[in-house]
Amino acid sequence: GLADKLQATFKKLRGRGKLSEADVADAMREVRLALLEADVNFKVVKDFVAKVKERSVGLEVMSSLTPAQHVIKIVNEELTALMGGTQSRITISSRPPTVIMLVGLQGAGKTTTAGKLAHMLIKQNKRPLLIAADIYRPAAIKQLQVVGERLGTPVFSLGDKESPVTIAKKGVEHAISLGRDVVIIDTAGRLHINDELMDELANIKQQAKPHEILLVVDAMTGQDAVSVAETFNGRLGLDGVILTKLDGDARGGAALSIKAVTGCPIKFVGMGEKAEALEPFHPDRMASRILGMGDVLSLIEKAQAAVDIDKAREMEEKLRKDAFTLDDFLEQLQQVKKLGSMEQILSMIPGMGGLSKKLEGAELDEKELKRTEAIIRSMTRKERRDHTIINGSRRKRIALGSGSKVQDVNRLLKQYAEARKMMKRFQEMQKSGKKLSGFR
Ligand code: GDP
Ligand code: MG
Repeated sequence: GLADKLQATFKKLRGRGKLSEADVADAMREVRLALLEADVNFKVVKDFVAKVKERSVGLEVMSSLTPAQHVIKIVNEELTALMGGTQSRITISSRPPTVIMLVGLQGAGKTTTAGKLAHMLIKQNKRPLLIAADIYRPAAIKQLQVVGERLGTPVFSLGDKESPVTIAKKGVEHAISLGRDVVIIDTAGRLHINDELMDELANIKQQAKPHEILLVVDAMTGQDAVSVAETFNGRLGLDGVILTKLDGDARGGAALSIKAVTGCPIKFVGMGEKAEALEPFHPDRMASRILGMGDVLSLIEKAQAAVDIDKAREMEEKLRKDAFTLDDFLEQLQQVKKLGSMEQILSMIPGMGGLSKKLEGAELDEKELKRTEAIIRSMTRKERRDHTIINGSRRKRIALGSGSKVQDVNRLLKQYAEARKMMKRFQEMQKSGKKLSGFR
């Protein structure tokens, strides 16, 4: 992912005392390449890099973040902004039915998406009606009818003898008479954009008066999807985009460019062929996905908010000297408790998910923490500094002294050993950016 590339870039810069403007420019060249490789529109890339550069040079690095983390944070924020910042929803009309018109080229996924949308709406206690307005493609009507049957949703059709405009208009009237509150019009596409298609869609728009015109585009077509969006938006005025087949898109170029190029937000993404495989589009999650770094950023943000910075530094120092004792462990547990459960935290660190399973039962509730404290307090100072000297009979003594079972003592020692390992790894992750200090 992009994050790996960025990490690699910053590794190259390791060992320098201070980063000059030229160093930042170097790193940004890598960002530029990574984005172009992801098939992002070149103009978008240019603006993006300029913005990140502007924010990175002369940066006041937060004490809790390494410069590399800080720049990645900026890249993440700018990627999110690029895709619209926050989630864009469809507008539900105060006077039902809300009319949604799906447009797009052949094979983009309109009919499939019509079914997915209906499925989603039903789950939200809405009563959708599907309109079969694709009269050109053989079996197009049947395809929608099958979808409707499976969902238990009515499908309005007048066969293929009436015009799509008439079908759409009568369909909306039918929905009103049935008391359906959302109408989804499945229109015909073409292999390529042409005037006939655009005129037909413009006519449907005029007659059916949709509240939302949503363009369905195939993510895997990359920059073609972006130019399709530009053309449709110019002719029809789009309210949003549904990006399908994101499950097969390894690059993310369309997702990153569409909003920036057309001004139209992506509202949903298709993640598969099944009816459930439609998700609201979250720019921040997509940015993290593109960066390929799980939820590391939210972890960093959470840690920043909750953990005492000096304490963290002290802990880091101890880790470096391999002097992370059971006393430190207890203190760390108390800090961690402010962040949430250990499992939650581990699941946010890439590659650490497996460890969270091992630590099952490490949920830190108040009682557990008290017991842990009692066990550690029952150890001698020497034992707390070196857990390896705690043998079987000592474990029994400690259990007795703290009013717990030997199993509890064993579990705690195991957790401590795992935590040491985990913190070492986290430490190494941080170190990759550490030597950049002086980045201003
Ligand atoms: P239309 O011509 O625009 O109506 O396209 P269809 O709805 O008939 O879909 C064309 C093909 O794309 C079908 O095989 C769908 O199953 C497939 N498809 C649609 N959306 C998705 C998606 O989000 N992911 C995947 N993998 N396939 C999809
Ligand atoms: Mg279709």
